[in-house]
Amino acid sequence: MMSDPKPTPDPAADAPSLEAKSPYELRVNLGARVSEADVRAALATGDLGFLHSFTTGSAVDGPGIRVVAWTSGCHWRCVFCHNPDTWKMTNGMPVTLAKAKEELAKYRPGLKKMSGGFTLSGGEALLQDRFVVKLFAAARAMGIHTALDTNGHLGGRLSDADLEVIDLVLLDLKAWDPERHRRLTGMDNGPTLEFARRLAARGKPAWVRFVLVPGWTDDPEDIGKTAEFAAGLGNVERVDVLPFHQMGRFKWKELGLEYQLEDVAPPPAEAVERAVAAFRAAGLKAY
Ligand code: SF4
Repeated sequence: MMSDPKPTPDPAADAPSLEAKSPYELRVNLGARVSEADVRAALATGDLGFLHSFTTGSAVDGPGIRVVAWTSGCHWRCVFCHNPDTWKMTNGMPVTLAKAKEELAKYRPGLKKMSGGFTLSGGEALLQDRFVVKLFAAARAMGIHTALDTNGHLGGRLSDADLEVIDLVLLDLKAWDPERHRRLTGMDNGPTLEFARRLAARGKPAWVRFVLVPGWTDDPEDIGKTAEFAAGLGNVERVDVLPFHQMGRFKWKELGLEYQLEDVAPPPAEAVERAVAAFRAAGLKAY
């Protein structure tokens, strides 16, 4: 239960539009007036979520054309993150579950026609695991395909029953070597690998996403081990190698954060091809 006295106002009633042209819009403090107690209650019930934005027409976040909701809140600190404004949950807009379902329902006919679906990305969506599960269950009830984009670290929060409302997991594998992974993200990759194995054991379809950052994630041996692991799972339908870019650089500056990749250029096409080839050599479909 939320701690507000009745009647509970819609916290998003006078908020700016959720729909963004792209996730590269800098968004801060949209949920700043939600009290800490209400944030805690929202996380416990999943009846309120915090979203950076909604985008429509994505062709890269799962099969078909997708509606994507970008959640706010992330406990990782990837040096290449292009959306550091999503790290703080209350930078996002508070959206009631009812409102999110209503938004989604508007797109239902179009998504069906385009064999698309609904993707929750972030930030790290599983920081709001109850909201994710309730919203995906609602999407499923509307006949909409569901995909979760996650770093997998909090996969243990999902019960086997929760996993049933997720059709596809877009799993971000950042690096194989634990030390490299820690330097890159600030976190241990053990829980992510454990979640990957659990998804595999349940035969849950997964797409792997791998961000290629020159000097940070382009070690051939490390990529080879990641590829070998992904191929051994048996449930990985495809791998997308995502070249690092600088579209989020301005956000680090605006937020006063120290950005270590100031002078890192996007990888050349040959380096991307080499990484794709390494995943293919392990027997995976990679792009
Ligand atoms: S997990 Fe994603 S949102 Fe979180 S810091 Fe890394 S790139 Fe950014």
